[in-house]
Amino acid sequence: MTKPEPATTGAMTLDTEVGSVFVSNYPPFSFWDEEHMPAIDRVLAAPPHPQADFGIYLHIPFCRKRCKFCYFRVFTDKNSSEIGSYVDALGREIELYATMPAIAGRRPKFVYFGGGTPSFIRASHLQALVDRAQAAIPWTGVEEVSFECEPGTLTETKVHAIKDIGVTRLSLGIENFDDEILRENGRAHLSKEIGRCMPWIEAAGFEQLNIDLIAGMVGERWETWRETVAKTVDMMADSVTIYQMELPFNTRYSGRILDGTFDTELATWETKRAWQDYAFEELAKVGYEVSSAYTMVRSLETTHFVYRDAVWDGCDMLGTGVASFSHLSGVHFQNVDGWGEYLASLRDGRLPLGRALPTTDRDRLIRELILQLKRGYLEVGNFQTKFGVKILEEFARPFAELAELGMLELADDSVRLTRRGLLQVDTLLPKFYDRAYHGARYT
Ligand code: SF4
Repeated sequence: MTKPEPATTGAMTLDTEVGSVFVSNYPPFSFWDEEHMPAIDRVLAAPPHPQADFGIYLHIPFCRKRCKFCYFRVFTDKNSSEIGSYVDALGREIELYATMPAIAGRRPKFVYFGGGTPSFIRASHLQALVDRAQAAIPWTGVEEVSFECEPGTLTETKVHAIKDIGVTRLSLGIENFDDEILRENGRAHLSKEIGRCMPWIEAAGFEQLNIDLIAGMVGERWETWRETVAKTVDMMADSVTIYQMELPFNTRYSGRILDGTFDTELATWETKRAWQDYAFEELAKVGYEVSSAYTMVRSLETTHFVYRDAVWDGCDMLGTGVASFSHLSGVHFQNVDGWGEYLASLRDGRLPLGRALPTTDRDRLIRELILQLKRGYLEVGNFQTKFGVKILEEFARPFAELAELGMLELADDSVRLTRRGLLQVDTLLPKFYDRAYHGARYT
């Protein structure tokens, strides 16, 4: 469950409203369009910047059930033969890219299997996909292979298959340990499935295990959240990632809220921030350290998240699969999001591209600034080296406003978010947007 999408660029609010924001990219997606697609052809036909890091994202868009808070492009109705066709198309897409000057001969720094639920597909499909992708773009020597899992889709055999394809970072979407909350929110798994898969995961010995939680699922109370956090602490995973529940327009819950048929109380943003803060504090008590606005790790020295840091540093990333997002040589682009259109393009030997946006140096500066703020700090000198811009002068006003509000602390060579700022970082970032994007729809 990686995070693209949501809705409008909003101000700071306290109540959980439909249309909330999770900032994952810049400029906003609503400015990407078909007219800019010739820019994709231009970057694919040119060699890459020699210093640019490169990674591959593979989108596996299948889930057992659609969670009521889900806003991703996922399918819950595909049979094994249809999944086979998708895996085939994904392999073909990677083969097409592998021959192009922007990609040919590049060695990925990371590979990321996201979804949807990558662990939903059969071990044989997974192995076939990896064999074909690696034949086209070998990833021997890659620093990290990440793989998202839903507990109820795992079997002992599948865990071995995931390990055998070279996965180094397994990310388990637990979200909550309370069965009533899991059921209410439409999750496919229950807590017993978490208990069942953990011994297999531990025995397989992945380099890194991450656990995902969501603060503020429908039905959550302080007592249930304390219990979930206590169980999480007991697991001592290498990394724990906690998102605050968002309600973009396209979730099932949002639809019910907007048509007036949802009558359950939702946790306010203030409560969700308090829950996340509590979890961070409990994890800190047993030695975890803050790695970003969402993630605590057992050791900053040894637990790295290569995919996240490379993306936030502006790497080239080839996003493959239906609706996937890419960034290559300064151009953003996204695949089509229709099942039939995606498969048909690849059957015809064409890349399934849907929309694009070429970025300016200033767009890329702002993109990296806002994404790196999610780490909780900025290294000011890095921006001067890379973009020739003194960010403390260029963005003096938003920095001063946020310092005044107690969201960050300024020094000569660094910007550091306070805990208060960190817990609501996504609401702060639009302050850095250029005027053309103020108040614009995000997706
Ligand atoms: S597991 Fe739930 S939230 Fe995650 S992609 Fe599938 S349906 Fe969406």
